[in-house]
Amino acid sequence: MTLAEIRKQFPILEQQVNGKPLIYFDNGATAQKPLAVIHSIDDYYQKYNSNIHRGVHHLSQLATNRYEESRDILQKFVNARKNYEIIFTAGTTGGINLVASSFGKKFLDKGDEVIISAMEHHSNIVPWQMICEERGANLRVIPINDKGELIYEEYIKLLSHRTKLVAITHISNTMGTINPVRKMIVNAHEIGAKVLIDAAQSVPHMKLDVQELDCDFLVFSAHKMFGPTGVGVLYGKEELLNEMPPYQGGGDMIKEVTFEKTTYNCLPHKFEAGTPNIAGGIATAEAVKFMNEVGFDFIEHQEHELLTYATKRLSEIEGVRIIGTSSNKASVISFVVAGTHPFDVGTLLDQMGIAVRTGHHCTQPLMNFFGIPGTIRASFAFYNTKEEVDVFIAAIKKAIMMLS
Ligand code: PLP
Repeated sequence: MTLAEIRKQFPILEQQVNGKPLIYFDNGATAQKPLAVIHSIDDYYQKYNSNIHRGVHHLSQLATNRYEESRDILQKFVNARKNYEIIFTAGTTGGINLVASSFGKKFLDKGDEVIISAMEHHSNIVPWQMICEERGANLRVIPINDKGELIYEEYIKLLSHRTKLVAITHISNTMGTINPVRKMIVNAHEIGAKVLIDAAQSVPHMKLDVQELDCDFLVFSAHKMFGPTGVGVLYGKEELLNEMPPYQGGGDMIKEVTFEKTTYNCLPHKFEAGTPNIAGGIATAEAVKFMNEVGFDFIEHQEHELLTYATKRLSEIEGVRIIGTSSNKASVISFVVAGTHPFDVGTLLDQMGIAVRTGHHCTQPLMNFFGIPGTIRASFAFYNTKEEVDVFIAAIKKAIMMLS
């Protein structure tokens, strides 16, 4: 597919906003959906809406088959050993809360430690604070340097026999820093700790292989990888998931219920209580197929070009300071403009048809580290173009003039 053909698959990109062609640079918050995903959701509700797993009738079997096929596609997508190592969740936040609660109850005791980093999204901070408080465990934080990179020696120093889990983002949603997760997993395993990778920002940009990474858990959201909202995936190693208690009780997660005792269902159902987002789960497979069709070579190349070009052009503007200057970055650029508030710049860009995100990006501790209230963040997807970057750069110059 050419870039023009790819863009045709995203009808939302064709519209005007405030009288200007929409330029969508807020992909880090949520990505746009291709027609295949939109049609899949429509198809489900028009043709086979039905509850899964429990029905003998035709529609229920159709829906069950499609839902379970989607699990198989996701298994291949991240190269999990077994399809039941793929647990459907409500998203990255849902997956992290599941692991924090279930792993925490089973494996965290007084004095144990969980390690996170200074660049985590609130979703990968707060659930750990909550479970650590409940279990009498301690949260330790890997510091970062001024470029927005982890200070690796400090990570090594934090690892000890008390460490039970390292929960780390693969790519910073605010700065785009790509963390050396493969190496971090090896080091954590050497002292017997488990590792959870927050892949919310990496699945849309690079091919992941959980066996090669050897992570114990990996979580992501469908909506950031061109799928629907309200769906996500938790990958976990079979033996660990088997040892962990259920997270929520309800339908589908049980084998047998009496008032005296309940026995739990096997994987993956043990962790999937209640009716899930069926249409969303099915449409997630369409998002995966679409990304595979575009191809990760194309995705990585296109996004690298956009990142390099936009970084160069932005750096040339007086008063602009880029936050997060690691040499290993994904297509996310955060910046501040001297003498302006990010919110004001974002509002002016919106008037020119450009969607960016402003604020703390759910990383308040990171904002405190840099001593700023927030940033303006442009995050690119493979359907963005250099021409859009040119318009964006001209719009920033105009916004700076208007605000000075
Ligand atoms: N982790 C990271 C790195 C993110 O960027 C986000 C969302 O921005 C999340 C977690 C939370 O994802 P969700 O809101 O889809 O659960």
